Amino acid sequence: MGLEEKLPSGFLLTTVEQAAGWVRKASVFPATFGLACCAIEMMTTGAGRYDLARFGMEVFRGSPRQADLMIVAGRVSQKMAPVLRQVYDQMPNPKWVISMGVCASSGGMFNNYAIVQGVDHIVPVDIYLPGCPPRPEMLMDAILKLHQKIQTSKLGVNAKEAAREAEEAALKA
Ligand code: SF4
Repeated sequence: MGLEEKLPSGFLLTTVEQAAGWVRKASVFPATFGLACCAIEMMTTGAGRYDLARFGMEVFRGSPRQADLMIVAGRVSQKMAPVLRQVYDQMPNPKWVISMGVCASSGGMFNNYAIVQGVDHIVPVDIYLPGCPPRPEMLMDAILKLHQKIQTSKLGVNAKEAAREAEEAALKA
């Protein structure tokens, strides 16, 4: 007989990792910055009508050191790319990135020398959100999908960051 069958119903079993994941996903703090028109939809998502507070994350932080979610809302110019990377580097681990809209994910209609053709050239992306612009409901859906990812991520190890650092070290060698 399994342990679950021996315990009275309603008895809660979990692991420290699952409990930490549950707490983390309900207290994500996005960094405050917008790059282009997608940012208007991001701001709308944070307003009263959509009530992001339901998911524990209505506070956008002014300092990257207090943020663990970067929402790249809009096209990234070549000049902005190093700034974006610096903001990302200043965010403490663990941290996550949502690429919001087709411009952030692939350059979109701006297929030219001035625009980065995908923000994943600059920072590791967790969720790609299509659309031009994605509606607030779509951003909320992306945030909920990110919550699922956070819930199942390992404690203490940021596998994505470790892979990225190994890649960068290999390129430098
Ligand atoms: Fe603007 Fe559309 Fe590009 Fe978003 S995806 S930054 S709305 S052009």
